[in-house]
Amino acid sequence: MVRDLMSFISEYDPEVGAAVESEYARQRRNIELIASENFVSEAVLAAAGTVLTNKYAEGYPGHRYYGGCENVDVVESIAIERAKKLFGAKFVNVQPHSGVSANYVAYITLVKPGDTVLGMNLDHGGHLSHGSAANFSGKQYKIVSYGVTPDTNLIDYDELRRLALEHRPRMIIAGASAYPRIIDFAAFSQIAKEVGAYLMADIAHICGLVAAGEHPSPVPYADIVSSTTHKTMRGPRGGFLMTNDEDIAKRINSAVFPGAQGGPLMHIIAAKAIAFGEALRPEFADYQRRIRRNATALATSLRARGFDLVSGGTDNHLMLLDLRRFGLTGRDMERMLDSVYITANKNKIPNDPENASLTSGLRLGTPSVTTRGFSEGDMDKIAELIYLAATDLDGRADYIRSEVDRLCAGHPIYR
Ligand SMILES: *Cc1c(COP(=O)(O)O)cnc(C)c1O
Repeated sequence: MVRDLMSFISEYDPEVGAAVESEYARQRRNIELIASENFVSEAVLAAAGTVLTNKYAEGYPGHRYYGGCENVDVVESIAIERAKKLFGAKFVNVQPHSGVSANYVAYITLVKPGDTVLGMNLDHGGHLSHGSAANFSGKQYKIVSYGVTPDTNLIDYDELRRLALEHRPRMIIAGASAYPRIIDFAAFSQIAKEVGAYLMADIAHICGLVAAGEHPSPVPYADIVSSTTHKTMRGPRGGFLMTNDEDIAKRINSAVFPGAQGGPLMHIIAAKAIAFGEALRPEFADYQRRIRRNATALATSLRARGFDLVSGGTDNHLMLLDLRRFGLTGRDMERMLDSVYITANKNKIPNDPENASLTSGLRLGTPSVTTRGFSEGDMDKIAELIYLAATDLDGRADYIRSEVDRLCAGHPIYR
């Protein structure tokens, strides 16, 4: 199916088609370790390419501003009902176009420009939309940042509470993009309650783990839970929002439309519905367990080869290598791995001495390789290849590429 669609595009528009086909080849050839990426099912991919892209459907099922919405109403209702069931949430909005769009909606629902917001420091693993100066969040709100402790690199809940008592934020954000440990949403909730702040939980990265019970859920604790659908969740590129509070649910709905977006992407919502359906099956829980087992195995094998891991390891799907002991920056390592067909991204580590374009860290995640069917034994091989790239790239590049080839050929994607 994937090949047929690509051949069609290539015949119709060779210029775009060639780039799409090259990307397909790259995805098949490389070991993908970017923690925020995944490979969706063919059904999710197919849904994203349907005629639903043609439909304007501003509003919500049963309350649209356009005629002819009877079919997309069904699709959106299925997506909402499946997400509710999957996460045990009372209210769900599946329209946000992306994770940041969902977060933007959470902000405009709960706080006003100028209000104080307490979010995780980007340099300690937070996300741009949790208060970075370069993002709307950092420009429109008074941001106070919490982080991890210097000794354990775990979220410093005492400091979080101290900052909350001192600054009295209107909203506290729990959630991260590069934090390898369990987030204690109950502790966040207790602190938020103590200071009268809203709690927003951003589970963009860990969504699939939460759905499968492999990470504690914030749904019982947070006023709003925001997420992407395309990371561990393994759905199409997009966002969604959940709450158990009926009044907040109404405010979310009007903040998404007409507040922040126009027409929803109905083809993507169909793909979300399919992904939520997949996640309700027992195989998905097994998949999420395997993501974590692979991450633990990769972390253990990397440590055995002398790599330092921020916080010493991982509880979830990702880990952060501290490369300083190898005399490499994250940028060096990302480029070196790229040259041998292993894909990862440079990342700041807490209290990083390097700047954002170099960094001292590398973030690795196992959602994609687990989707491909790689097992714990393969993780040890990957750790060996990463070690060889870091220590003897010139001497071992051919060997690494041939091993990458062998591993990927054994677990092809989209046959
Ligand atoms: C990835 C991520 C987002 C943003 O998602 P986009 O779809 O890229 O906009 C938001 N929050 C966190 C914590 C993330 O990791």
